[in-house]
Amino acid sequence: MSFDRERGDYFRSGLQEGRFVCTAELVLGRDHNVSEAERFVREAAATAEGIRVIGVTDLPGGNPALPPESFTSFILQQGLDPLVHLSGKDGNRAFIEGRLHTLARMGVKNLFALTGDAHKEGFGGRSKPVYDLDSVLILWLLQAMRTGLEYNLGARTVRTTPFDFFAGAVVNPYKVREPDQMMQFYKLQLKIAAGARFIIPQLGYNLRKLYELKQYMAREGLDVPLLANIYVPTLKIAQMMQSGELAGCVVTDELIRRLESEKKPQRLERAALMLAAVKDLGFASAHIGGFGLTHQDFMAVLERAAAIGGGWRGRMDELVFESPQQFYLFPPGEGGLSDGAGEYQLAKVKPRRSWTQVLSSQVHDHLIKKGSVGERLLSPHLKPDGMPASRPSFRQRVWHALLEPATLYRKATLGCVGCGDCIQEHVNYAGCTMRWCYKELRNGPCGGSRPDGSCEAHPELPCIWNLIYLSTLAMGDDPKKFAHTLIPPRDWCLDNTNALANRLAGLDNAGKRQWLEADFSRGAEGSKS
Ligand code: SF4
Repeated sequence: MSFDRERGDYFRSGLQEGRFVCTAELVLGRDHNVSEAERFVREAAATAEGIRVIGVTDLPGGNPALPPESFTSFILQQGLDPLVHLSGKDGNRAFIEGRLHTLARMGVKNLFALTGDAHKEGFGGRSKPVYDLDSVLILWLLQAMRTGLEYNLGARTVRTTPFDFFAGAVVNPYKVREPDQMMQFYKLQLKIAAGARFIIPQLGYNLRKLYELKQYMAREGLDVPLLANIYVPTLKIAQMMQSGELAGCVVTDELIRRLESEKKPQRLERAALMLAAVKDLGFASAHIGGFGLTHQDFMAVLERAAAIGGGWRGRMDELVFESPQQFYLFPPGEGGLSDGAGEYQLAKVKPRRSWTQVLSSQVHDHLIKKGSVGERLLSPHLKPDGMPASRPSFRQRVWHALLEPATLYRKATLGCVGCGDCIQEHVNYAGCTMRWCYKELRNGPCGGSRPDGSCEAHPELPCIWNLIYLSTLAMGDDPKKFAHTLIPPRDWCLDNTNALANRLAGLDNAGKRQWLEADFSRGAEGSKS
């Protein structure tokens, strides 16, 4: 089937019709490489069987760069299908929504929702981190935009024009430790339930791990197209990945050793081998990228993969680069891959509870939980009585003053920063994610944690979401709740107010959380709560 310029939905229809649609990723810099990107797109457009879907990154690596909007019109003019990355960093929810309306007006249909990398240097120093909506909440916003967002304009209620983006999401299947990996898988489920219609994983170099993602999705009934991410690294880029300068990538010493002696043809051969493997293993498609690759290089990879066919099976040592103490979810199976029918290989030992967890959960159960003695006694005195929650005057009552020690306790034990919209009982008192997570995430981890489980941005700290996984197990709770619970965007009118009073008054997120299940009744097109 050829690309229909009018419809402009080669990507969506391809995936839905089961065609193997290879996409290329172009990384836009500040503006120095625009001519190379343009050349790539022109060549693709002029090649009959060339790449038809062009992914354009959104300020990758935490550096200043051209946003995808700057290049999308050019791709559309050339008759190709843009796949626009949209990251939640660098803009708050109002700005993100504005960008989405812009993209809709430009004719963009395919979106790839990401949380975004940690910031690096910008003009005059390091940029201010802005993380208002993460990938899950961007998908949730896109879901709401499908029917239009309702808002008040004076006395009138109006609705934005409904727009149905074909939106996908990322997952990192290459984690080395169980907590990182399982939290990635749970967040993947949440993204699909929140409306992701295709998945492109993080790039990586362990086919067994990548295939485990496919096996996990099949086991859990996550019936959306899964693309493989195939990246052709140079030695320099692989070293940056290994050092953590490019976040969330696992590159082993063995791969670095091989790259030291490889030239471009050998690197392209590895990509072709990977492409042949994922085609054979039933992946829906492949997303291919690499620094400085021409369209001719892409075509060479495609042609070589076709020639390799099933021959990849005898070359697993070129496809599986394994970290020491590598966690696999499934037991070993045939041909160097995992056995997808095997039992999940999760640790059987329950971690120990901390005293903060024990004390906090007891207080919660008896004084805060809906229906508890404390809740019934206190909540009638804490309601704003029709006043907007943003109005500070109702907080000056004696009952609010009585709850002040709770704020001191939260600060001392959990690292509370006073967002006033607390999720601590949901994360089993592992610590405040507004403080310990660089990206202030509330719906699960980003993909950036390092192989040892430390944070992408603060390697001296463990990723708080690993601690949340362990704390959840320690409390005898099921971490699968993170695959289904959507925490709504933080309400900034509660900032610097008493979180306990807000909970008891019914002002915080507790009553607005949603339990989501993926719903494939419309052909992997939706979710239900
Ligand atoms: S704490 Fe974890 S989720 Fe948060 S930024 Fe660091 S690596 Fe990402």
